[in-house]
Amino acid sequence: MTKLNPSQNRTTQKGEKAKSGVAQALRDLFVNELKDIYWAEKELTKAIPKMIKNATSEELVEALTGHLDVTTEQVARLEEVFDSIGAKPVAKKCEAMAGLIKEVEEIMANTKKGVVRDAGIILAGQKVEHYEIATYGTLATFAKVLGENIAASLLVETLKEEKEADNALSGISK
Ligand code: FE
Ligand code: ZN
Ligand code: FE
Ligand code: FE
Repeated sequence: MTKLNPSQNRTTQKGEKAKSGVAQALRDLFVNELKDIYWAEKELTKAIPKMIKNATSEELVEALTGHLDVTTEQVARLEEVFDSIGAKPVAKKCEAMAGLIKEVEEIMANTKKGVVRDAGIILAGQKVEHYEIATYGTLATFAKVLGENIAASLLVETLKEEKEADNALSGISK
């Protein structure tokens, strides 16, 4: 079991309060994953419009259009998260989201426009939302453990929106 080692405490150049090695490593992981989801959200602001163009059901178009606006706000909210922890907003390619978006594109290319393509868009969209729910849930927990309470509440806010989006897609699929 990993334990915090007080002997690893050190003072940074800025003279900030020193953190133990494990706390610093968790913080590094947290920042890295923020960069990952920041890239993912930005990429989704480009992918969702393509999904809207390919959707037929009015309900699905409405849900995706609403979530596109929400996603744009989530990008800005992540910038607030970076700011609240004193880090720069940097995007780092998320291989998982790149793959999920590729799946959406494949489904849209391989189905006829109409109910079947709509069903495929819902399927792929729910995979995206589940990935986001897992990510934001974990990141909110990391933020709490690190004592980054502003970041934690911002991340919980986004987590709720992703759950709403997932529920909306489930509703439409019926
Ligand atoms: Fe999102
Ligand atoms: Zn990711
Ligand atoms: Fe990733
Ligand atoms: Fe989402």
